Amino acid sequence: MAKIAINLATGTFQQEDIIVGIDLGTTNSLVAYVHPETRQPAAINDLGRGILVPSVVHFPADGSGPLVGNEAKEFLLTEPARTIYSVKRLLGKSYKDLGAHATGLGYKVIDDNAEGLVKVRAGDRFFSPIELSADILRELRHRAEHALKTPVRRAVITVPAYFNDSQRQATRDAGRLAGLDVLRIVNEPTAAALAYGIGLDPAEAKTVAVYDLGGGTFDISILRLHEGIFEVLSTNGDTYLGGDDFDRAIGQHWQATAGLPASFGTVPALQQQLRLAAEMAKRYLSQHDDFTTHLTDAAGQNFPVTLTKAGFNALIRPLVQRTIDACRQAVADAFGVSGFSLLVSGSDEARSGSSQHPTPNTEHQTPNTEHPTPNTEHLSTEHQAPGIEPKLNAVLLVGGSTRVPLVYEMVSEFFGQPADNSLNPDEVVALGAAIQADILAGNRRDVLLLDVTPLTLGLEVLGGLLDPIIPRNSKIPTRAGRQYTTSVDGQINLKIAVYQGERDQVAQNRKLGEFVLTGIPAMPAGLPKVEVNFLLNADGILQVEAVELRSNTRQSVEIKPQYGLTDAQVEQMLLDSMLNAKADVAARLLIEARTAAEQLVYQVENFGRRNAAHLTETEKTATAAQVAALKTALAGPERDPILKAMDELDELTKPYAERVMDIAIKDAMTGKKL
Ligand code: ADP
Ligand code: MG
Repeated sequence: MAKIAINLATGTFQQEDIIVGIDLGTTNSLVAYVHPETRQPAAINDLGRGILVPSVVHFPADGSGPLVGNEAKEFLLTEPARTIYSVKRLLGKSYKDLGAHATGLGYKVIDDNAEGLVKVRAGDRFFSPIELSADILRELRHRAEHALKTPVRRAVITVPAYFNDSQRQATRDAGRLAGLDVLRIVNEPTAAALAYGIGLDPAEAKTVAVYDLGGGTFDISILRLHEGIFEVLSTNGDTYLGGDDFDRAIGQHWQATAGLPASFGTVPALQQQLRLAAEMAKRYLSQHDDFTTHLTDAAGQNFPVTLTKAGFNALIRPLVQRTIDACRQAVADAFGVSGFSLLVSGSDEARSGSSQHPTPNTEHQTPNTEHPTPNTEHLSTEHQAPGIEPKLNAVLLVGGSTRVPLVYEMVSEFFGQPADNSLNPDEVVALGAAIQADILAGNRRDVLLLDVTPLTLGLEVLGGLLDPIIPRNSKIPTRAGRQYTTSVDGQINLKIAVYQGERDQVAQNRKLGEFVLTGIPAMPAGLPKVEVNFLLNADGILQVEAVELRSNTRQSVEIKPQYGLTDAQVEQMLLDSMLNAKADVAARLLIEARTAAEQLVYQVENFGRRNAAHLTETEKTATAAQVAALKTALAGPERDPILKAMDELDELTKPYAERVMDIAIKDAMTGKKL
């Protein structure tokens, strides 16, 4: 199928440019490529600044452009509210998804709309995690362009195997916003396996475990390679466990044993000093047996601190044991009797919806530190349980923290075979992404290239936005679905309008067809569960089916997406989407902000009417003024004023909303009518 690169400078297509592979990490990100002559993958080190770019974005108070990487990291303790780290944890998530993890970050995550995608506040500016990830990707792109002395427009980006549809789409959007044509989203463990040379021979069948311990997250994935396709048999892990916890354990140990003044736990500069010394000790003890240094307090007094390898191992053993427990579960899920039922693609993420068009269903799994239901690499192909032999051909180590010898030992012992750590664990995911990019570029004729769909297929949701169901470049045949609901009480019809294309608004895409799902039993808004499934068969014929799950009402239609589209037209559609990426994303974010603001105005006004008796005059006046301010912002052409007014309205109403809720609960308990 079409593999097209666009040169934005000239507006022409280029076929021969380099496609990079990007590991967009929680702690560190990096970019790699396959050298056109040596054919070897290599990580890019621009200007000798180092290969790893810390995934941190800082917004200077003077309003100048964002700093990314090591320069931004400097501000983590001095200007936390303007310095965003771990943005990957927020990507494609709603406030509700984050739960308790939305606070205590140092910067502010906005909670004005529990079900929409989260935003972050830095000073007076608001950013979506997509924009922040785009800042990191843009930095990587610039470094690659500078080092390779060529424009870089195409990329493969990796994501954790457990990322759902919404998180994958958010990653694609971030790439697009950074000026990258994202050819494929690849699972991190799959990329790691490719880097280790597994998956390059279509005839091989193998099962591997990929153990990935990074700065703040741990992932274990069991993959099966069969007929050129990687299948995720199981994933497990802990999204709040990593090398940072090792550093913290060392810091706490020193605070408890080295007679450090309390200021090392409270004063930012001293906290930073302690943290850096702890990380230094950890790294040093990966190769030596004894570490010694001293810390200096504000008065210039020195405090010697030491740590032996045995002492370090004792500190972290319980943490490493937790990763082993997750490995045990992953193995049981992959090979156990009930293991295969896990492979159901979860894609019921919340976004906004309308009365006319379906509203994505907002019934989420509650987040916790375990990963949710795993997702297969190809998102959708049905999984059959062929008697897979519970045998691992390899155990691959990924992530900076696997350099710790105790980790290597405990993992090798658990799996009963020496783990493979022969590649640089910081780079292995990016190197694999570069190899995948090279395959997509058609440079490896020996590797089977499956047929892919050239344009995204999706349906229309509120505000005329396209909700992508099957992303472009998905292997076919494929199947994907998503749940929606109604947003008006008693709604009995739902219009399903199917579009093809890369633009955010359906009006700029190609309409393939529509039908109306009728006969939904009248229910309150949000209760019906409508599942829409897209089935794209090997001949490129799309079947769209909608089912209301509570009543089993169903309807379907068959469409030929490519019918009548020439290659040139497909290319033009891609070119348009790249040329308009910035404006398109901005327009969509504005539409989403307006929708959320309208919902908030509705809720606040409703609340005020119902609870007028419990509110003071001051509260009523202040609220009315802030609602009016929000309505003014809503009518304007900019998003930040809307988000700012929403945040302010939220802050204003929070104290009395809580008070009134307490009264309501008391009333309910004493039997009074609400
Ligand atoms: P992520 O994938 O989450 O972005 P990385 O794979 O880059 O994270 O891992 C970063 C972690 O690896 C940090 O906690 C860092 O301290 C740790 N690390 C890097 N080198 C070493 C080393 N030599 N010994 C121990 N830990 C290390
Ligand atoms: Mg990583």
